[in-house]
Amino acid sequence: MASDVLELAERLWNGEVEIESVHPVSLPVTSRLAEPAHGVAFVPSFANVSAVSTGDGLVLVDTGSAPLAASVKAEIRRWSPERLNTAIYSHGHIDHVFGVGPYEEEARSMNWPAPVVIAHRGVPERFDRYKLTAGYNSVINQRQFQLPGFSWPTEYRYPDRTYDQHLALDVGGVEVELHHALGETDDHTWTWVETHRLVCCGDLFIWASPNAGNPQKVQRYPLEWAAALRQIAIKEPEILLPGHGFPVLGADRVATALLDTAELLESLCEQTLTLMNQGARLDEVLHTVTPPAQLMERPYLRPIYDDPEFIVHTIWRRYGGWYDGNPSTLKPARESAVAAELANLAGGAKVLANRAVALMEAGDLRLAAHLAELAALAAPADMSVHATRAEVFSKRAMEESSTMARGIFAAAAADSKQAMGLTAS
Ligand SMILES: [Zn+2]
Repeated sequence: MASDVLELAERLWNGEVEIESVHPVSLPVTSRLAEPAHGVAFVPSFANVSAVSTGDGLVLVDTGSAPLAASVKAEIRRWSPERLNTAIYSHGHIDHVFGVGPYEEEARSMNWPAPVVIAHRGVPERFDRYKLTAGYNSVINQRQFQLPGFSWPTEYRYPDRTYDQHLALDVGGVEVELHHALGETDDHTWTWVETHRLVCCGDLFIWASPNAGNPQKVQRYPLEWAAALRQIAIKEPEILLPGHGFPVLGADRVATALLDTAELLESLCEQTLTLMNQGARLDEVLHTVTPPAQLMERPYLRPIYDDPEFIVHTIWRRYGGWYDGNPSTLKPARESAVAAELANLAGGAKVLANRAVALMEAGDLRLAAHLAELAALAAPADMSVHATRAEVFSKRAMEESSTMARGIFAAAAADSKQAMGLTAS
C-alpha cells in the first residue's frame, strides 16, 4: 500500500490503479494516517478509523478491530496527544468496535475522564445477538475469509449512550450530528461534522459494490440504504471518510460516489420488485435482474467484496417470504436422497461427476457446480467424486470477483480435499 493514502485514493479514483490490487479485505496492516483537512485524521485499517480534533479532546468515528487496535492508536498518537473524548460506532460489526480499550487504559493512567462510546440503540441488541449466535458467526467467517480456527468474540464494549433517530453533540465547540440509517445493518450511524463539511459514513460506502447481499448474514436494507445516501448528499459534504476503502475528497466526487451507489441499489430493488409483483419465482428474478453496466464500471462500485446478484436475494427476503416459488423445495426430500435418485438414473455418481468436469471444461461453471455437488451428495465416501468437487469449486472460486463467493466456493473445495485426506483439519 502506498505510504500516502490520499495520493493512492486519487489514483484509484482516476483509474490509474485497479481497486482489485488494494482490495479492502486484503489490506494487511494499519497504514499511515492521512490528514484530509486540518483537524481531521483518517487511519486506513480494517476497518478504517476517522478522528476529529475538538477544543476538548478527540472524537473518533469507529475504532477498528481488536488485532489492530494498538497500532491504530499509535498512528492517532503520532498525529495528536489529545485525550479521547467520544467514540462513535458507525455500526456494531466487529471490525469497527474493538478499539476503545487502549484509550480507556490511557485515560486511567493519565487521570483523564473516561471516553464515552455512543452508538445507535440497535448496537447493544446486535451484541446480544452475537453472543446468541457466536458458533454460527465463527463458522461463516471461517468460510468467508478462509480463516480456519477463527473464533467469534463473546465479550463486547457496549456503548455508554445510545440514540434513536438523530443526536446532536457539542464536543469542545465542534458540532457533531449523528443520523441513524438502515443500510448494511439496522444500526448504522452516519456522522456529520459541519465545520469540516465532513461525513463519516461507516459502511454505507466502502469503495466497492455495496455489502447489501452478504449470503450468510442477517437482513440488509437496500432501498433505505439508497435513501440514506441521498440524505447524506443533501448535506453537500466535501470530505467522505468511509468504513472501508479510501477517502473521497471534493464536493463533486463525494456526490458522485454517494448518488451512483444509491442508483445501483435502487435499480436492483426496482427490477427485483417488478418481477416479484408479477409473481415470478426467485429463479427467474435471479437470472433476469442485471446491474446497470455503466455503474459496475465505476472504480468504487466493483464487485470485489459482495456481489450484486446476492443483493437480489436480500431484496427477495426483505419483501417476501423464504419460499422461492418452486413447490418441490417447500417441503423437500433430503438433498442426499434426491442426489442418490439422480445418480441411479444416470448410472452412478461417477457419471454425474464426469459430466461436471465436461461442463466445467466447456465453461459452464454454474451447471458444473450442481452436478459436482449432486455427485458428492450421492456418494460422499467416493474420493474420485470429491476430487471432482474440489476441482470444480476451486475453479469457481478463482473465477469469482467477490470475497464472499470466493470464500464459500473455496471452503467447499477445502471440505472435499479434507474428505480426501489431502489437508489437515
Ligand atoms: Zn465494516
